[in-house]
Amino acid sequence: MRTHTCNGISRSDIGNTVTLIGWVKSKRDQGAGLIFIDLRDREGVTQVVFKPEINKENSELAESFRSEDVIQVTGTVEERPEIDGQSTFNTEIATGEVELIVSEVKVINRAEVLPFPLDKPVNNEDLRLKYRFLDLRRPAMARNMQLRHRITKTTRDVLDEDGFLEIETPILSKSTPEGARDFLVPSRLTPGSFYALPQAPQQYKQLLMCGGIEKYFQIARCFRDEDLRADRQPEFTQIDIEASFVTQDDIIGLTEKLLGRVFKESIGAEAPASFERITYQDAMDTYGSDKPDTRFGLHLTDIGDIFTNSQFKVFSGALKAGGCIKAINAKGLNSASVGQIDKMTKAAIEAGAKGLAYIQARGPEPADWRSPITKFLSEEELQGLKEKLNIEEGDLVLFGAGDWDTVCEVLGRVRLMCADYLNLLEGNTDLNFLWVTEFPLLHFDKEEGRWHAVHHPFTRPVPEDEAKLKAGEYAGLRAQAYDVVLNGYELGGGSIRIHEADLQDAMFTALGVSEEEKKTMFGHILDAFSFGAPPHGGLALGLDRVAMLVCGTDSIREVIAFPKNNKGTDLMSDSPAEVDFKQLRELYVQSTAKKDKKGQPQQPAPAK
Ligand code: ASP
Repeated sequence: MRTHTCNGISRSDIGNTVTLIGWVKSKRDQGAGLIFIDLRDREGVTQVVFKPEINKENSELAESFRSEDVIQVTGTVEERPEIDGQSTFNTEIATGEVELIVSEVKVINRAEVLPFPLDKPVNNEDLRLKYRFLDLRRPAMARNMQLRHRITKTTRDVLDEDGFLEIETPILSKSTPEGARDFLVPSRLTPGSFYALPQAPQQYKQLLMCGGIEKYFQIARCFRDEDLRADRQPEFTQIDIEASFVTQDDIIGLTEKLLGRVFKESIGAEAPASFERITYQDAMDTYGSDKPDTRFGLHLTDIGDIFTNSQFKVFSGALKAGGCIKAINAKGLNSASVGQIDKMTKAAIEAGAKGLAYIQARGPEPADWRSPITKFLSEEELQGLKEKLNIEEGDLVLFGAGDWDTVCEVLGRVRLMCADYLNLLEGNTDLNFLWVTEFPLLHFDKEEGRWHAVHHPFTRPVPEDEAKLKAGEYAGLRAQAYDVVLNGYELGGGSIRIHEADLQDAMFTALGVSEEEKKTMFGHILDAFSFGAPPHGGLALGLDRVAMLVCGTDSIREVIAFPKNNKGTDLMSDSPAEVDFKQLRELYVQSTAKKDKKGQPQQPAPAK
């Protein structure tokens, strides 16, 4: 239907007859039958010109064109002319030095008036999602889809070169304790029983290692029934990798190579050959986050030593209870508005603090500081702070006191807000890749009174801690787990796995899995580990998040062709939707959902 794409003609085609097909991006009617159309396809735009002296009927037809009509045009490529001594070249587009003078035109399909313009930003995201098939025509979206393809293609190339096999694992699988809530699928053939959609192919990929596959990968769809945020979707895609006979360094090296190639081949960006590493402990201590953005400082400083014998009970009490006191000096943020301090205080409270103490340094000396807490501090403590935090005129110092986890979390969030208020990242194009290693193996949930796996139940402790796990000493165990982070986003993570039945059994015991559940839920994997399972490990990268960062957007919905909105709804097909009761009956399922007076399903109470 065409000889070239709409981005495909250039000066070398001048004088040639070409045929293009595409969408009417815009029309400029100069009157008297002279009409300019910008014709667009996936690749780009060409200016096509209708002149009455060439064909009057064609010009009349062109007058009727509206945005997004599909037309096919044939004509001669010409150089864009000079008008009144001025060049009419358009340097913004690749075909900007030429135009197509139309001799034949065919209307292929007409378009109704559009629900929103395709060539301007549209703030109403729900509207874009309802008409996603139009939204995808926008050049920015077309670019995102092309980059996403480049990422998966490069992934396949790199892993194939390294001997990895791409293997699909079941979508109809079994409910497993991966951490989130499962999506369930009722089984018609086994009434009352359910499949679960995989949260990740974790067990299958380990079973593939038991099956001697040695090197596996999959561009795997994963499903988690969670409350949604900007970078979460109920279904998302992972680059899932597992290999046998490997160490943590092998998986780290492979991932560095993979991400390096992905960034190079998609946007030409250079990633370092190997990424910096930081332990979980240091990441939390210094940045208050297990996925720190290391493009700026604003470090958390421990100031406990200044307050060991303080009269200020909030500080000394935190230390006596075994906690810590930390502070951030946000240089130059002394002028933070009341609104900004309120917002940070709110964020601190949400993260578990009772409030947010601060000092606004209106001058270099403590006498010049404005603060709700300095009146409780001794001269010596104030001088101690000044020295340790290098407090100068113009600074804003923010404090956290309490248990270590909460203090780190609180100041970690406040740190990001300070960076935002200080515009520290404006114009920054750095790619700060980082490994976070030595995660804790287990986390004690005080409310539930039990231990949870920080990564997942198949993660291996460091060799020094194996005996402790078997002996039931669970506090402080470290895992052979690692996360890869880019500019404050977790791109993915993985671990070296347990491959022995007895160690896996001990792990399940730590997690409170009963003997009965070990058999019913995990019998297959314990079995597999008892027939010579190879040592193995792996990782999964969040493809959507990688694509988001490659494309330079701030929402994964921009890089997913048909995403759900933040209520988990596909607005285009209006899904989820009610189904006929007969369908439910066939599945032996009955709905207990209540309807409101208007017949609408009642929403669940918001999570507290
Ligand atoms: N299955 C894990 C996850 O989805 C990744 C891994 O351990 O390979 O987070």
